[in-house]
Amino acid sequence: TKTAETLGFQAEVKQLLHLMIHSLYSNKEIFLRELVSNASDACDKLRFEAIDHPDLLEGEADLRIRVEFDKDARTVTITDNGIGLSRDEAIANLGTIARSGTREFFSQLTGDKQKDAQLIGQFGVGFYSSFIVAEKVAVRSRRAGLPATEGVLWESDGQGEFSVAAIDREERGTSVTLTLRADEDEFLSGWKLREVLRRYSDHISLPIQMKKEEWDAEKSEQVVKDEWETVNQANALWTRSKSDITDEQYQEFYKHIAHDYEDPLAWTHNRVEGRSEYTQLLYVPKRAPFDLWDRDARRGVKLYVKRVFIMDDADQLLPAYLRFVRGVVDSADLPLNVSREILQESRDVRAIRDGSAKRILGLLEDLARDKPEEYAEFWAQFGQVLKEGVGEDPANKDRIAGLLRFASTQSDSPAQTVSLADYLGRMKEGQDKIYYLSADSYAAAAHSPHLEVFRRKGLEVLLLSDRVDEWMLSYLREFEGKPLASVAKGGLDLDALADEEEKKQQAEAAEAFKPTLERLKTALGERVKEVRATARLVDSPACVVVDEHELSPHLLRMLKAAGQ
Ligand code: ADP
Ligand code: MG
Repeated sequence: TKTAETLGFQAEVKQLLHLMIHSLYSNKEIFLRELVSNASDACDKLRFEAIDHPDLLEGEADLRIRVEFDKDARTVTITDNGIGLSRDEAIANLGTIARSGTREFFSQLTGDKQKDAQLIGQFGVGFYSSFIVAEKVAVRSRRAGLPATEGVLWESDGQGEFSVAAIDREERGTSVTLTLRADEDEFLSGWKLREVLRRYSDHISLPIQMKKEEWDAEKSEQVVKDEWETVNQANALWTRSKSDITDEQYQEFYKHIAHDYEDPLAWTHNRVEGRSEYTQLLYVPKRAPFDLWDRDARRGVKLYVKRVFIMDDADQLLPAYLRFVRGVVDSADLPLNVSREILQESRDVRAIRDGSAKRILGLLEDLARDKPEEYAEFWAQFGQVLKEGVGEDPANKDRIAGLLRFASTQSDSPAQTVSLADYLGRMKEGQDKIYYLSADSYAAAAHSPHLEVFRRKGLEVLLLSDRVDEWMLSYLREFEGKPLASVAKGGLDLDALADEEEKKQQAEAAEAFKPTLERLKTALGERVKEVRATARLVDSPACVVVDEHELSPHLLRMLKAAGQ
């Protein structure tokens, strides 16, 4: 034999392993889903690399996943003939968590089992979930294209260290063998394993095989035969017709591709025919991932061409403001050897991107109309990202505007629940503008003296305080023909809303205050452009406004802070 080397897990792995075993125990059978999911990913990767390098298939192009158990050794083994792992890849991929957002994830852990379990799930437990049921995990692998002498054996008891040794391995691909903990015997059963596979992994497009079993009347027990049978449907979920797919299957498929542990919030599944032909199955997650704010973070749409996996996070398939969407697009038009560069130029890809954006907006509109509580959940998680669409996607600007939700003086709460349509429905007679106020925080907006006259007149004002709002507003000038107007800008034209008496009073006041205004103007000199009497204040004596066409004080502060 060759020498083994012992290495320590990255600190985060140790922490995660400990937490996971304790918080996910009630859902322990997910280990099988995770290992099958990895086996499927490995086959996808091989199939993709083999497009340019057919030798990698080594004459064995039928990709499959096998699950076996051994009652005497108390092991369960998951084997694939996918891409495999080199020694370095085993060390890097099985000993560390290289994902972005890792640090943030750990900073959010609370020690509360239930909350942490949810967080861990969201983060994705993956390979390490093996240790929920196994006291020892052995990974035997050989990367496609490497000689049989360059196999690798990776072993760990999940306590903080792992060992790697070189082995000879004829078969390409990976075998993961779990030695079960003392009380996990239930997984040493063909019936149990089939049940879990059908529940969690039926959507996997490769055959998942197990050894046939037969009832032996003489011995009066199940006997395992030396013959494989396929235990899942083994066709890609998105190619099946909608009526043949259950909600559970859609949900499990989502978990597989999104590496999420929670169910999605909503999904849309369509086959598009015509000038370009593709199938899309797109999901809106329940919760924002840790790296949502990173515009360069991986996007969730996988690209397939005629069922062949081509790439993860093909960011050309969706506009950036929909980067929270996860799913699959399977194109019938693109060439198999499509590259990211080709994607950028492709007309077919543009058609897919436009089509996908429309589908997702439609899905969100349905959600907002039919399930307002779920839409509120969505808005709380992803609303700020969706707002980017107002500037980024001129063709869909009006639809996106319809999906926006705001805090307003009507609800007197920071919760963003008011749509522009709600606002229009409540406009006063004679009101021809949608009033808003933007500030650094909700509290600053809600307590602004600019609101006084609006409160008195019972006019609703939208209160905006998200970072993207000012930027968004520079693109959102009107909604259904009604202009948006800042209550902190310019001469407020509330005349149409004033009655005769008010108008008279205002005219008189302006006259009477003329000398005072002159004096103030002289005293303030260069610092102001104009001093005028106003009807916009109720309790405060004075306020500062900027001209209609100038930058708001809030935006000015932001620009200054950004060094402009
Ligand atoms: P994820 O699947 O989200 O990347 P996992 O923890 O499930 O995270 O797996 C970690 C990594 O280990 C994978 O990204 C892959 O590189 C590698 N890996 C796991 N299982 C296999 C396998 N069966 N074949 C090849 N590589 C694998
Ligand atoms: Mg995985």
